[in-house]
Amino acid sequence: MGTVIDLHMHTTLSDGRRTPTELVRLLAERGVEIAAVSDHDSTEGLDEAQAEASRHPGLRIIPAIEISADHPDDETAEVHVLGYFLRYHDGPFQERLARFRAERETRAQRMVERLTGLGYPVVWERVAQIAGEASIGRPHIAQALVEAGHIATVKDAFKGLLDDDGAAFVSRPHISTPEAVALIRSVGGVAVLAHPLFVKEWEGLVPRLAGMGFTGMEVHYGEFSAEERLRLARLAETNGLLATGGSDYHGFGHEGETLPGGAGPSLPTLEALERLAEAGA
Ligand code: AMP
Ligand code: ZN
Ligand code: FE
Ligand code: FE
Repeated sequence: MGTVIDLHMHTTLSDGRRTPTELVRLLAERGVEIAAVSDHDSTEGLDEAQAEASRHPGLRIIPAIEISADHPDDETAEVHVLGYFLRYHDGPFQERLARFRAERETRAQRMVERLTGLGYPVVWERVAQIAGEASIGRPHIAQALVEAGHIATVKDAFKGLLDDDGAAFVSRPHISTPEAVALIRSVGGVAVLAHPLFVKEWEGLVPRLAGMGFTGMEVHYGEFSAEERLRLARLAETNGLLATGGSDYHGFGHEGETLPGGAGPSLPTLEALERLAEAGA
């Protein structure tokens, strides 16, 4: 077997269930050798992940992020942009991310106000507590609604209330795809399209990615079948993109969850990605 590589996973600094330390210990236990910690819109877990990884000699952590950007053709839809090899201790980079997260907080507060107006009072402090260190969003509000006894399940909380047409919905803050790519590249990183099959009109979008400054796209993704991966691998090759991937592990613990090390690129692909980052390409 080749080197075990996984370039997509989350911690409690976004919506994962394990702290960076816990995640890195799991990686070591599972024999993962190269791993990217890629929290949503945050690099706040990376120092801790690197510190823990230094205790596991066989394991290398690549500093990463997954930015929730607007779809280039429809700003109500999202494109998740992965960034790798980030020199993330950079003032302007961190300021931009902090502003994005602060805007998410204001937006969540507005949704809580709307819910109260609609007869579903939830306590803001409780929502914030549920989110913890994570970038706050609708799933946390949904959980508070369930806790307060207003709604039976998180899924039901979305129906008519929190979903995009819901009465309490407020649109999220925006960062364009070009801005997300530029932000990643501004700190020496390379940009990769996350889980293309989940992206609106991906077949039209992928051929445009290289022109937008993307270096790769996810092909070896936990939830994609062998047939899907084959198709995506061909598409990546045709468009001059590296075929990367990862488990997108969150630690939810559901049946069939892809575990760390369960999906990822080959070592030559990872090396090519790193060379392109070093070349600033
Ligand atoms: P936000 O980033 O705050 O707009 O929340 C988006 C997240 O809400 C998504 O990543 C999903 O995890 C969750 N979500 C969106 N729609 C639904 C739905 N209909 N049912 C359950 N969860 C949903
Ligand atoms: Zn996530
Ligand atoms: Fe994603
Ligand atoms: Fe993810």
